[in-house]
Amino acid sequence: MIIFKEKKSLSFYLDSLRKEGLKIGFVPTMGALHQGHLSLIQAASEVSDMVVCSIFVNPAQFNDPRDFEKYPVRTEEDIQKLLGTSTGILFLPSVPEIYGETMDGLETYPFGDLENILEGTFRPGHFQGVGRVMSRLLKIVRPDTLFMGQKDFQQTLIVSKLLNILNINIKLIICPVIREKDGLAMSSRNLRLSESARKKAPVIHRTLSFVKENFRNQPFPELLEKGKAFLEKEGFKVEYLIIADRLRLETLREPIKDPMLCLTAAWLDGIRLIDNVFL
Ligand code: AMP
Repeated sequence: MIIFKEKKSLSFYLDSLRKEGLKIGFVPTMGALHQGHLSLIQAASEVSDMVVCSIFVNPAQFNDPRDFEKYPVRTEEDIQKLLGTSTGILFLPSVPEIYGETMDGLETYPFGDLENILEGTFRPGHFQGVGRVMSRLLKIVRPDTLFMGQKDFQQTLIVSKLLNILNINIKLIICPVIREKDGLAMSSRNLRLSESARKKAPVIHRTLSFVKENFRNQPFPELLEKGKAFLEKEGFKVEYLIIADRLRLETLREPIKDPMLCLTAAWLDGIRLIDNVFL
């Protein structure tokens, strides 16, 4: 595995691979790697000749500066984990390498309603930050295929929109949510859960499973109220628990023929957790 810290040398190297006809797969991450990240790398290796993984904790996507400061950084452990995978290149840029000397006056993207609902409501500006970092990373790596997790479902829709806005031909593959044995969706933020919160955290997935089991025989608003009450009883502060369509994430009050998801975000012991399932 080759580690690059400079975008110029990475682009130059990748150009030489492209000239040889190699297909490039890209897995962008913020590090503190877990099996969820490694599953994206595995998926990338199945269809690519070269897998590029990036680790960059992107300041532009944190609406809460304290969350950014507390975000787990585990670079040495991450490198060891990646050495056991088929990652050929790790990109480890600094903040100035991505954004230059200042982050003032960055561009904005016309994501429309999608950036103001759900995650966007509770994390204002988050998706502009995602757009800013992804546009830069994609211009540096110029992959054939990009791999992202269903765990951050709304983010996959935003990135899909970004690819249209930038008019670049990159195939986006969305990989399934990898979970702990007790159902908790793997997340770098789980490292910050206290022992007692970690024990309660799987209730999120149990609630989503409850909705999945019952959405055919109960009105959505009633069912979601029950789910919310279930979470609140266990000490969660629920930001949203909704059933939505797959394309625009619009709230549904009754079933539709197209694919539907149940999505949630909830706080437990000062940590914000998100998860979703297809119904
Ligand atoms: P992050 O490091 O949290 O920015 O995540 C990097 C990528 O890994 C994103 O595309 C996430 O959606 C994906 N990811 C995070 N957690 C999981 C998981 N539990 N299963 C599958 N993919 C995940």
